[in-house]
Amino acid sequence: MQNGWETIIGLEIHAQLNTESKIFCGCSTRFGDEPNQNTCPVCLGLPGALPVLNRRVIELGARAALALGLQINPISIFARKNYFYPDLPKGYQISQFDQPFSANGTLEIMTAMRDDAGHPVEWRRKTITITRLHLEEDAGKNVHEGLPDVDRYSYIDLNRAGTPLAEIVTEPDFRTSWEAYDYVNHVRRALQWVGASEADMEKGNLRCEANVSVRRMGDEGLGTKVELKNLNSVRFMQRGIEFEVTRQIGVLESGGQLRQETRLWDERAMETRVMRSKEEAHDYRYFPEPDLPPLVVSPEFIEKVQASMPELPEARRQRFMEQYGLSFSDASQLTSERSLADYFEAAAKTSGNPRVAANWLRSELLRELEAAGMLASASPVPPEELGALVRMIDQELISGKQGKDVLVEMFTSGKGAAAIIEEQGLVQLSDTTEIDGLIDKVLAANPQQLEGYRSGKEALFGFFVGQVIKASAGKANPKVVNERLKKKL
Ligand SMILES: [Zn+2]
Repeated sequence: MQNGWETIIGLEIHAQLNTESKIFCGCSTRFGDEPNQNTCPVCLGLPGALPVLNRRVIELGARAALALGLQINPISIFARKNYFYPDLPKGYQISQFDQPFSANGTLEIMTAMRDDAGHPVEWRRKTITITRLHLEEDAGKNVHEGLPDVDRYSYIDLNRAGTPLAEIVTEPDFRTSWEAYDYVNHVRRALQWVGASEADMEKGNLRCEANVSVRRMGDEGLGTKVELKNLNSVRFMQRGIEFEVTRQIGVLESGGQLRQETRLWDERAMETRVMRSKEEAHDYRYFPEPDLPPLVVSPEFIEKVQASMPELPEARRQRFMEQYGLSFSDASQLTSERSLADYFEAAAKTSGNPRVAANWLRSELLRELEAAGMLASASPVPPEELGALVRMIDQELISGKQGKDVLVEMFTSGKGAAAIIEEQGLVQLSDTTEIDGLIDKVLAANPQQLEGYRSGKEALFGFFVGQVIKASAGKANPKVVNERLKKKL
């Protein structure tokens, strides 16, 4: 937020629904196939071809809506949105207009104030109004790179034409780029969680556009808005909005005027630049799609979908806090992704100490997973084994420090905790008779320090602990050494 100015942001998300075939034909939605391999008269828009709605799209659309807490309209209408673009040979896109799949919902998200480095400082709730969630088909793709003569030709790949999308539009409810960031992450996680979409921005199966404007604090009306595109990650979006806000305020404060336009975020140059001005804004001449009947969604259908949904992330976070005594931030991290939450619960069960298991997972295992670019579901350390390791540390069979090395070894070798501990002879020495013997030796070998300690230099206590552990080749249990030393000294 900059002095005297307020930022207004609305967001549009296009999420590709995770179906095997397209929305109105049987062509595959597989990514990476030969260009134009997955096309047919329907998705090419050849005359006379008739669309047939893919039932799976409705199921996944319903999962998406329910995951965001939205109502599903009993009747919605597909409509033609008419415009010409080379990647849309039909001349129209089948979308929904005045009767969408879902409309006028609210969504509560958690959003944080951030410090300058972007770290959350304080979390709070915010309610966002979702104007609509509608179903539509994607267009094809123009290819300008990686093919011969791209300086002279544009190539068109229609494999993506007809891929099902859910478009989710908000009211201009966001006041900072971080609120937008937290919202998109919320939506992304929700869609992934219920299997509605892979929702991966880098792969392009979740795309986001931001409408950004600024106004003087206290003003009622909205300023001239700019539409931001080419936001290929949530972080890029946040940076793009931040740049755009500063740019707009700069223009207005120097007495200039803003134009309503579409701008692209250039991550390399870290700036936005004009793509097109809105003077070319289209009148899409929407009309109901004559080849598709109204979409009727029965209460029974919704109930069935509802019954097949997993426990949602927010509910699960709340339960983690209550059931396992985790803090808000720990529970949030562990519910950031569904396979991680599943992993935690399985590890917690075998560990016998869920909070300690949570710490080991968050601080130690996640570091290894992130370095290897893996999700928890692909971890070479099964959750039961992390639980077993935590239990052995809890029972002081090995020290926490040894545990860290064991975990790294488990991760690289795929072996179990018990096997590695036995192989490396790591079991901690907790036997008091043996430790007493070591203490006697250490005291006898260091008469000067002993005298120093007895004459009041208490800091020497740590010296003796260190010597005893050294004498045990690192195996002595520090807690037992402390106790026995106190008695002896
Ligand atoms: Zn097709």
